[in-house]
Amino acid sequence: MQLSKQQIDYCMECGVCTGSCPVAMELEGFSPRGMIKRTLGEPDGNILQSRDIWACLSCSRCSDRCPVGIDFPRFIRTYRNKARQKGNLPKFSHHGQFHTITAIQAKGVKQDRIGWAKKAGKICEKGDYFYFTGCITYYDVGFKYLDLNMIQSAENNLLLLNKTGIEPVVSNDECCCGHDAFWSGDDDTFSTLAEKNMKTIAAAGAKTVIFGCPEGYSMFREAYTEKFGSLPFEIIHITEFLARELPNADVSFKSKVKKTVTFQDPCRLGRRSGIYDAPRDLISLVPGTDLAEMEHNRENAICCGTTAWMECSSCSKSMQKDRLKEAEAAGARMIITACPKCQIHLTCAKKNTDHNIDIMDLGSFLAENID
Ligand code: SF4
Ligand code: SF4
Repeated sequence: MQLSKQQIDYCMECGVCTGSCPVAMELEGFSPRGMIKRTLGEPDGNILQSRDIWACLSCSRCSDRCPVGIDFPRFIRTYRNKARQKGNLPKFSHHGQFHTITAIQAKGVKQDRIGWAKKAGKICEKGDYFYFTGCITYYDVGFKYLDLNMIQSAENNLLLLNKTGIEPVVSNDECCCGHDAFWSGDDDTFSTLAEKNMKTIAAAGAKTVIFGCPEGYSMFREAYTEKFGSLPFEIIHITEFLARELPNADVSFKSKVKKTVTFQDPCRLGRRSGIYDAPRDLISLVPGTDLAEMEHNRENAICCGTTAWMECSSCSKSMQKDRLKEAEAAGARMIITACPKCQIHLTCAKKNTDHNIDIMDLGSFLAENID
């Protein structure tokens, strides 16, 4: 990603990004502006050996505010592949198991990933709609210790899609969208996965792909479009699809327990994709539910603390605990998420603390309150 002379000249006098960055607030010396400056002075030098190159969460809080439109996450990502080639690797979280699972998928292993869907609802092998489940099917195995039933979120999304009258394709041949490979600089793995997914969707004959995960949606919206050009199908995140379709569907909601909830804007759904209203509209479908906003919300929301299963640190934990405190300060008894990783990270941070707040995904919240 090339910066123009005008962008560089402005940038050297600015610093808005560093003042906006949640990592810079926790990690001494970390500065997005400083990193841009370093790349200009030493294009192949010190920056490629630095740990800072991995510390950015690609949360886009900085780029959303940059007066000259520098997408810092995309900028720094271009150095990550080069850093890998120099032997500077990120610290993979959870013993690297999810990056390994991704790499195995890229090798073309035969998967059995639709058993849950056959039990949970109506699906088909070919059709107009493709439900892109994402890697949630693998998270239950990795996060048993958090007592999270992650697959339930996919089951409930399928139930809600069925309520709108569609029976989507759910495919054994779907692979990881490549988000974690892309953002950790593993460009080859990303490319292989992206090509496989494009073939799988084409073979299903889908005209619309509905994403259960904000990462998958943002990857198709940005990286797939960049790689393949205009996509031969419509893409939509499930929150936007349901917000459009559920009010006209034969389904009504009744609050089982009246409560105040808050919503954690996922970076990939909010700042990177501009979707803020759809999840809030869906929450408002459940009568008796009050939505209280956290101090930092919508464009100003704070990330759940880690990304791409790498670099989980005391900085991540501090951000996550601040998020729990903000939710409680807003008077919420539940944080509703629309991203599996936000749900996992906030639940992990809550463990072994005295925070007393529920954390639930949006699909399950809606399904639980169907009348
Ligand atoms: S906000 Fe934009 S222009 Fe300002 S220092 Fe950061 S990257 Fe440079
Ligand atoms: S993307 Fe987020 S973490 Fe990375 S530099 Fe910008 S504000 Fe900081």
